[in-house]
Amino acid sequence: MSKIAIIGGGIIGSSIAWNLAKSCLTSEFIVIEPDPIHEFAEIPRAIGGIRFVQGLIENLKMSLYGRYVFKNFARELNIQEDFVDLNFHECGYLFLGTGNTVKAFEENYRMLSEGGADIKLMDKRSLEALLPSFNFKDIDVGLYSPSDSRIDPYSALRGFKQAAIDLGVEYKKDRVVDINHDHRRVNSVKLESGTFIPVDIIINAANCWAPDICKMVGMKVPIEPVRRQTFYFNMEKEIEKLPAARDHNGLSVRPDGAGFIAGKTAVGGKTGFNWELDYRKFENELWHLMASRSPFFETIKYKGGWVGHYDQCLLDGNPILGPWENGLSNFILAAGFSGHGLQHAPAISLALSEQINHGEAKSFDLSRFSYKRVEDNKPLGDTGPTP
Ligand SMILES: Cc1cc2nc3c(=O)[nH]c(=O)nc-3n(C[C@H](O)[C@H](O)[C@H](O)COP(=O)(O)OP(=O)(O)OC[C@H]3O[C@@H](n4cnc5c(N)ncnc54)[C@H](O)[C@@H]3O)c2cc1C
Repeated sequence: MSKIAIIGGGIIGSSIAWNLAKSCLTSEFIVIEPDPIHEFAEIPRAIGGIRFVQGLIENLKMSLYGRYVFKNFARELNIQEDFVDLNFHECGYLFLGTGNTVKAFEENYRMLSEGGADIKLMDKRSLEALLPSFNFKDIDVGLYSPSDSRIDPYSALRGFKQAAIDLGVEYKKDRVVDINHDHRRVNSVKLESGTFIPVDIIINAANCWAPDICKMVGMKVPIEPVRRQTFYFNMEKEIEKLPAARDHNGLSVRPDGAGFIAGKTAVGGKTGFNWELDYRKFENELWHLMASRSPFFETIKYKGGWVGHYDQCLLDGNPILGPWENGLSNFILAAGFSGHGLQHAPAISLALSEQINHGEAKSFDLSRFSYKRVEDNKPLGDTGPTP
């Protein structure tokens, strides 16, 4: 029996383990995860959005499938209905753009509509009708996706993990510290405990730590941790029903339980782990941006926040997926999700398991996400509004 080792037991590693175990009866699967509560992992710090406004048709197709799987989660994974509650709900998503982005929004709208998404291209008047308290003075265009949804990310991980365990996948609490290879193939992994595990295939799903694993085999990847701060607040006055809204300046704000959360994507900012939650960013920047959009945001009560890190692909903001064709052919990478790995986990794990079992991903075309684009220094032309 061949042995497949998956490094990292987050949503990517666990969904791959489940898909592989479901479809391949001739291999053994082991997930190596040093931190079973995932304290510093990305998944418990995620927001849980499944959105259709995407810049690549592949990403839209994967989001559509992700939505389907998460909506029918217990049935799709064959787990007890009451084992996890994903709190799946439709919240809608709105992207706002200025004059110089109108053409890009129109093109993106065409691509997304043809790809099967229910998207509305909004002018100023329709935006004002959707959100009457908002000031759209500087806004010329919007993309509104009413059926975009949200789930609880950690519950999704628990579901995939349990489904994988039910199919016989072993989870080992340990850390991969080295990989033995003969420059053509990997042969075994060394764990922090001193154990060596002989392997036939390795899948590197270690997210922000994936570059460290790649370094063990001499593979260079343009992936680095990028801090994402999420700030939580309550409103003093009741505002109209808000979708998740993403402004042209990178601000995102959305309802979250009884309150709201806000964050801001810093394009081209500092990379590396930084666990400090910088309240001044909220006070001095985000709050002003929000208050200039709607007077309701002027009177809010800040409640706290948290820090997480994207495994940012610095080449083009898209993941690197599949085997290292020109290096170690049984070393498979699944990292660099740059903030959209949760919604794409069901599709990516299905397609990668097909690639491993049949030599070809059938359900989704992953070819453009391969490591070859890194070797060729050819970023993917992601044309949508900045994610
Ligand atoms: C603030 C924020 C908001 C987000 N919002 C969304 C959203 O709305 N929608 C969406 O789709 N995505 C979102 N994401 C992104 C999403 O959370 C990630 O893409 C996804 O969780 C990636 O999963 P993962 O399994 O690759 O990573 P992780 O959850 O980080 O798991 C990787 C695991 O690898 C393990 N590991 C590390 N080193 C080793 C080693 N040496 N040996 C073995 N194991 C190791 C770690 O312990 C960790 O548990 C968001 C992320 C953040 C930070």
